[in-house]
Amino acid sequence: MAESNAVEIRDVVKVFGFGEFAFSAVDHASISIRKNEFFTLLGPSGCGKTTLLRLIAGFEFPTSGEIILNGEDIAAMPPFKRPINTVFQSYALFPHMTVADNIGFGLTMLGRPKQEVRDRVAAMLKLVRMEKLADRRTSQISGGQQQRVALARALAPQPKVLLLDEPLSALDYKLRKDMQIELKRLQAETGITFIFVTHDQEEALTMSDRIAVMSAGKILQVDTPRAIYDAPTDRFVADFIGETNFLRGRIGSVSGGIAQVETPMAGRISATLPPDFVPDGEVTVVLRPEHACLWLPNDSAPCQTTGTLENIVYFGTDTHYHVRLQDGETQFMLREQNKPLQRQRFSVGDQVGIMFEENAARVLRN
Ligand code: ATP
Repeated sequence: MAESNAVEIRDVVKVFGFGEFAFSAVDHASISIRKNEFFTLLGPSGCGKTTLLRLIAGFEFPTSGEIILNGEDIAAMPPFKRPINTVFQSYALFPHMTVADNIGFGLTMLGRPKQEVRDRVAAMLKLVRMEKLADRRTSQISGGQQQRVALARALAPQPKVLLLDEPLSALDYKLRKDMQIELKRLQAETGITFIFVTHDQEEALTMSDRIAVMSAGKILQVDTPRAIYDAPTDRFVADFIGETNFLRGRIGSVSGGIAQVETPMAGRISATLPPDFVPDGEVTVVLRPEHACLWLPNDSAPCQTTGTLENIVYFGTDTHYHVRLQDGETQFMLREQNKPLQRQRFSVGDQVGIMFEENAARVLRN
């Protein structure tokens, strides 16, 4: 195992149920999570994120495969002996105990000396900026504050890895945004590997060093947020992360990792191939809505394709345009950033031209 990896998940399968009711909640998953990394498992409800987290924590055992922690196979190690801690969606605090006692609870249970517990609790209170509320009962503090206490309690024993299962989902939008920044700061300050579970694409993109996108128990793509967004290799990943356009076509020629794809709706498109992809016949090309721009016929600008503007949706920061392409079937979406007091140039019903940004289109594996 590479020195830099905190957790290695090797070909892990977790089957629930028996006989005809058996199904794989985790299906041959392999991931290497680096030390000091903010790593996110992202996917829709029921895709197996929590099961994978529970396997790492030791609350479940893999049907097959290995989980290696800092070079050691931890299959036989009970959860409480693993240098891993978990923050759950329900913070699971003791309501009758103070903030400080909640934070120190795990250390006390581990039989650490009283002075050490006091020092660690003080350090954790400072880390999560809760010094002033140390003596309050946790039933008398807000949801966001409870979240901080749960984090402090999980960080107090200095685990090598912290597992976070949708820890922000109970918070309102504004507080969630604040806590996202806070979590990122805590991870950077402590240097602990964070493995974070969410179904929220934006949360994953803004917080993570790397993301694993999961669907139906499978790991579809592991990469940086930017690569997952800009260069999805899989149709599910492209669709799940942000809005996108899919265009079907046939590969004409390939040179230097770029394919010329012939499409009925937009002519020939230059699109980057995924690594190690052997193109064969029909493919899907993906293009994000902000990677194309719109022209009116009298702009006399070069156009990849043309169509009829069917819908204009104003979103404050940007405007979305839906165009029915020349094949009469495909709807193409574009997104343009709004400038202050910009005059609306387009109207529904306009015949428009569309130009794709260079190097932005990508061929998907499926
Ligand atoms: P969510 O975001 O809704 O929590 P998830 O991606 O975390 O979803 P899991 O909780 O890992 O998904 O569940 C994956 C699948 O395994 C689901 O179909 C779930 O019903 C099933 N499952 C989870 N735990 C068990 C169990 N102990 N016994 C049987 N099935 C289970």
